[in-house]
Amino acid sequence: MGGDSSYSTTAAKRLRALRAEHLTPAVRPSSSTRRATRVHAPAIIDLDVLDHIEAAAHEIVAETYTAVPTAGPAPSNPEAVYAWADQVTAHLPAERRQVRDALMLRQSLEHSLQAGEPAPVTALVRGESCPTCRCWGLMWSRADWVVLCANRRCHDTVGLPTRWNLQQICERHVARVAALQRTAT
Ligand SMILES: [Zn+2]
Repeated sequence: MGGDSSYSTTAAKRLRALRAEHLTPAVRPSSSTRRATRVHAPAIIDLDVLDHIEAAAHEIVAETYTAVPTAGPAPSNPEAVYAWADQVTAHLPAERRQVRDALMLRQSLEHSLQAGEPAPVTALVRGESCPTCRCWGLMWSRADWVVLCANRRCHDTVGLPTRWNLQQICERHVARVAALQRTAT
C-alpha cells in the first residue's frame, strides 16, 4: 500500500471521472449540420456537479491553509489540490495527517456518490464496526446520506437507530488503517 498518498490519488481519480462524465462540454455542431441537429436539446453542464467539485476543492484548500498557513498558492485545477495538500502537509504529525486523509477519503466517496456510484461507500461502511455497540451492522442510508446501525439495541435516547455522518466513519477507517500499518512495520 502506498501509504498516505493513496487517499489523495483515489480522490483525484474519482474527481476526474466525475468531471469527465458530467462536465464535458457539448460539441458544437458545425454550421452545415446545425439545422439537422437542432431538434436535439443541447447537452448542458451539470451545475450541481460543478458546485460540488468547487466546494470540495475549496474545503481541501481551506483545511490545508488552516493546518499550514505558510503553504504556497494552491493549484487552480481542483484535481490537483489533493496532491498539493498531501505535499505541503507531509511534515505534520501523524494525527494531523490522519485528519487530512479522512477528509480526502470522505470527498473521494462523495465524488462516487455524486456520480451515482454508491458501491465504494457501502463497501467502506460495511468494513467498519459500529463505534457504539461494536457490531458489524452499519448501513449506508442513501436517502439521508448518513450511516445507521442495524442493531436494534443500538439506538439514541428517543429510540432511533444510532447514526453517524460520513466524515465520522472515514475518520474511524483512517485511524484503524493507520494503526494496522503501525503494527505491521
Ligand atoms: Zn451500533
